[in-house]
Amino acid sequence: EGHVVFENVTFCYDNRQTALNGISFSIPKGATVALVGPSGGGKSTILRLLFRFYDPASGRICIDGQDIRSVYQSSLRKSIGVVPQDTVLFNDTILYNIRYGDVNADEEAVIKAAKAAQIHDKILSFSDGYETKVGERGLRLSGGEKQRVAIARTILKDPPIILLDEATSALDTTTERQIQKALSTMTKDRTTLVIAHRLSTIINADLILVIKDGTVVETGTHEELIKKM
Ligand code: ADP
Ligand code: ADP
Repeated sequence: EGHVVFENVTFCYDNRQTALNGISFSIPKGATVALVGPSGGGKSTILRLLFRFYDPASGRICIDGQDIRSVYQSSLRKSIGVVPQDTVLFNDTILYNIRYGDVNADEEAVIKAAKAAQIHDKILSFSDGYETKVGERGLRLSGGEKQRVAIARTILKDPPIILLDEATSALDTTTERQIQKALSTMTKDRTTLVIAHRLSTIINADLILVIKDGTVVETGTHEELIKKM
């Protein structure tokens, strides 16, 4: 009776080898879940299927007990916030980029999201009336700063499910951990957070799923998995 449930999901890209091999798992509402495991194991594919870039060849994916194929695409995508690996920003201010798609968001909420994503220092140094003068800044940010803008944008949207696909990989480990912690604290019990990461740097996950060869090979908390090693 999870929030996000995969039931025997199989998927194959074109005529290539199987990417997901009858995978099943259940993610409780509000949990922070880490998908870890070797590159090519199927982590990104899980996220793509959840967002319905593709549909499974067989099996079922449910959110709140409802097969996602029976949910309108627009409402499915409204309920899922995706932080991609590479973010393209508009040639506009950071505030604009964080607000994107939500022009009515009040500044306080934007700043709060920016703080959680640790990009607020950039905004504060550009504010005080200089907002319009920094039009081009979005494009000049580093990869890690762009990721933080994308994370802030998703936090601001406040969807019930947030997916991060290697979204913090351009950041140093300390910043990455701080953002992960801020994200799961802010979204505690309210937002289901699914983080795909090649490395298991996600220390504060409620549940870790080790994905390999398109299936779950281990599952448990950080402590449980360390004991098994
Ligand atoms: P990541 O592992 O960083 O999420 P991708 O999901 O883009 O990266 O790619 C994972 C693997 O899938 C890579 O080894 C890549 O060779 C393969 N791959 C990605 N896109 C394609 C494609 N369009 N055609 C064939 N193989 C692909
Ligand atoms: P991970 O995210 O764990 O690195 P992926 O989900 O990207 O794993 O990849 C799972 C399998 O699907 C791999 O065999 C990979 O080569 C293949 N794959 C991933 N993306 C594509 C794609 N766009 N086209 C074809 N094959 C792909």
